[in-house]
Amino acid sequence: MTAVDASETSTRKYIGRFAPSPTGPLHFGSLVAALASWLDARSHEGSWLLRIEDLDPPREDPSAPDTIKRQLETLGLTWDGAPLYQSTRQDAYDEALNELRNKGMVYVCTCSRKSIRGVYPGNCREKRLEESATGACAIRLRVPQKIATFNDRISGSHIFDLNNTVGDFIVRRRDGRTAYQLAVAVDDEYQNVTDIIRGDDLLDSTPRQLCIIEALGYQSVRYGHLPVILGADHKKLSKQAHAAPVSIEKPEKTIRDALLCLGQTSPPDTDNVQILLNWAIENWQPDMIPARSTVWTPA
Ligand code: GLU
Ligand code: ZN
Repeated sequence: MTAVDASETSTRKYIGRFAPSPTGPLHFGSLVAALASWLDARSHEGSWLLRIEDLDPPREDPSAPDTIKRQLETLGLTWDGAPLYQSTRQDAYDEALNELRNKGMVYVCTCSRKSIRGVYPGNCREKRLEESATGACAIRLRVPQKIATFNDRISGSHIFDLNNTVGDFIVRRRDGRTAYQLAVAVDDEYQNVTDIIRGDDLLDSTPRQLCIIEALGYQSVRYGHLPVILGADHKKLSKQAHAAPVSIEKPEKTIRDALLCLGQTSPPDTDNVQILLNWAIENWQPDMIPARSTVWTPA
């Protein structure tokens, strides 16, 4: 894996995206990530796509996609084109998996989840197990033996050793569903995404996605990972922790709060969210994003 260099994508037209999993309404933390990604796209005169990552129905809320769209629209974060639903993309994921099979880069793993804690030790790597239609088995990607690096626009350079920290990882789950890591890489390539701005809770996933991007010969993307927003209890705002849905009653107030969390100082005093967003595009300074997590308590 080679370093991702910001200049690599500079000849492509900027395309950013926001890719929520529809497990519930957007909370303030996910809104901050959406706003940063939107501002970065708009300030580059780029497109901004919405992708609904609905690959795991048991964890989802059927009303969430509409709620998320309404929240984004009310807050002025408009997207380009029709949203892409991952649930419509199974053929593309199957095709990508087939390509990995043909290249000998994946193998069947029958280890139970309980038997694997931490780094996968490669138990099934050389077993050449057959995929059976009945027995539950996962499919893992062979991770190359090398230390890799990438430069993040916000969080700086990262060095990682996937082999010793993760090991061969799952690209198709035991329940037959495509793993998030594979679906994201396939769709970012399909949608020609050049820039991914997201919360640094996903930083761990980036080396895995880079590994897939390299295995499938995809185009490189630039990354920017933002420090996540913490609640008053200093824990990450998350749906699991039942963070409140982001407020759309006063869009300009919500956007102003989010801008302050992104270190964008002195937004104009206006009650018009459009004026505020236009100001934010003109004055977007990703360098001002705080390096550490912000604790946010709703006023
Ligand atoms: N769907 C993922 C999530 O909501 C994010 C995917 C991404 O931004 O790469 O956590
Ligand atoms: Zn195994």
